[in-house]
Amino acid sequence: MSQSTTHRPEHDELQPVLAHLARTTRTHHLPGTPEYDAAVSPWNVAVVQRPVAVVAAESPRDVVAAVRLARRHRLAVAVQATGHGATSGLQGTLLVSTRALQDLHVDPATRVVRVGAGVRWDRVLDACAPHGLAPLAGSAPHVGVVGYTTGGGVGPLARTHGLASDRVRAFDVVTGDGELRRATATENPELFWALRGGKGLAGIVTAVELEVLPIAELYAGAVYFDGDDAPDVLRRWATWAERLPREATTSVALLRLPPLPSVPPPLAGRLTIAVRFAWTGSAARGAEVLAPVRAVAEPLVDTVTTMPYAALGAIHADPVDPMPVHEEHALLGALPRPAVEELLRLAGPGAACQQVVVELRQLGGALRLPGPVPSAYDARGAAYSLMAIGLGAPPVVEQVRRDAEELVAALGPWTVAGRLPNFAPRTGTAWLRATYSAPTLRRLARVSRTYDPGSVILGSADLRATQPHRAGASTLLRSLQALTSARR
Ligand SMILES: Cc1cc2nc3c(=O)[nH]c(=O)nc-3n(C[C@H](O)[C@H](O)[C@H](O)COP(=O)(O)OP(=O)(O)OC[C@H]3O[C@@H](n4cnc5c(N)ncnc54)[C@H](O)[C@@H]3O)c2cc1C
Repeated sequence: MSQSTTHRPEHDELQPVLAHLARTTRTHHLPGTPEYDAAVSPWNVAVVQRPVAVVAAESPRDVVAAVRLARRHRLAVAVQATGHGATSGLQGTLLVSTRALQDLHVDPATRVVRVGAGVRWDRVLDACAPHGLAPLAGSAPHVGVVGYTTGGGVGPLARTHGLASDRVRAFDVVTGDGELRRATATENPELFWALRGGKGLAGIVTAVELEVLPIAELYAGAVYFDGDDAPDVLRRWATWAERLPREATTSVALLRLPPLPSVPPPLAGRLTIAVRFAWTGSAARGAEVLAPVRAVAEPLVDTVTTMPYAALGAIHADPVDPMPVHEEHALLGALPRPAVEELLRLAGPGAACQQVVVELRQLGGALRLPGPVPSAYDARGAAYSLMAIGLGAPPVVEQVRRDAEELVAALGPWTVAGRLPNFAPRTGTAWLRATYSAPTLRRLARVSRTYDPGSVILGSADLRATQPHRAGASTLLRSLQALTSARR
């Protein structure tokens, strides 16, 4: 992880900030209190978060106050709702927690949902279900709506219905200059562009309005096979997935799940392989399409069936409880047979693989289409997402890290530039350069300079550091001109 360039205030500098917080903000938590500990405890417990203080926003006004305070005292301000995408770069920052912003309104007539920035997908799924409506949630419904959507949002129906961020109609957002703004395709359009894919770089969202789809049921789930069948399953999956129509979204995961009570016995303490499948057409046609995968071997567990859309989380069955994880991620442009064999060599049966999950998500389909309104999401051309997740705690973490890096390096011939902004959350200039193209970084930096002139939003200093130093360049030019004229 690269070094963040954010200002790190000394202890004495912080005293006026804390005094100001104590005077003006009812809902703030300081280190040493149980409320602070609860607010900074992340889903990935391997990440240590130590912000100066937490402002537990109860309204957009509290967010405005926090940003203005941070600006006055030259502190960076970060935002989190659930801690699912926590990063360790919070030292010296003021953390705004949006957990209490829980407004949720479904308008079945317009098929638009408005949610506060603290709302998780599970509440939206439940609120939409009685109307037969479906929000484009991710694989884990306990993830926050805003964090997910600002990162693009590649969910279990992504190949059919595209990115969650392409369904955003409007954001209410507090920008780094301390103003509460509305961002839509026509109102502050550059901000709207940046907030869909640029994550929290452009401001702190207080509410989002999303289009939801008329889907009540799905033919979906996962087929789990024994690890010994992994080579056949993975080889079949790779050729089968290539020919799938857009009604299908699929991923495959090599799983080394620990023998814990929360893990179903057939999957615990051994290598298994899961093919996840979500089909938006008829169940009968879905079963026909899935048949070649089901026929590879005798499944250990087969959960693919007609399910209510609100049960979307069952497809991936992601873990809910906090845990220490190490994540490594890359995008692939293709998955030819040699790439499959490399994956099997390093993560298949017999490999000394340290990863709990090695997942390939097929992208493409609707994800390739440009959204209705351009956005900062840069990864539309990628064909697959590779994710390696291992235990992020001693004594194995270093081995897990090396092992994950080896896996990504082995697939290097098939990787393409860019990353999904939501995957492997990190900070710093190296992460930004690896995630976004140069034109997107340039445009994000321009938005940041416009709406956050004091570089208050966490990550904005790193964002600007990715840009050539214009003052430096002109100074260099002047020096060269002076040198040339001196020689004449
Ligand atoms: C188990 C699991 C499954 C996942 N599955 C998927 C998946 O299927 N598809 C996918 O795309 N991603 C997936 N993710 C990644 C997830 O979308 C990101 O980690 C996301 O950032 C989580 O948002 P959060 O609000 O829950 O987390 P938080 O830790 O609260 O926030 C993470 C980041 O989101 C941004 N953010 C949060 N709130 C705001 C705000 N109010 N304004 C501006 N920015 C904000 C900030 O950059 C913040 O640092 C998954 C993550 C986990 C842990």
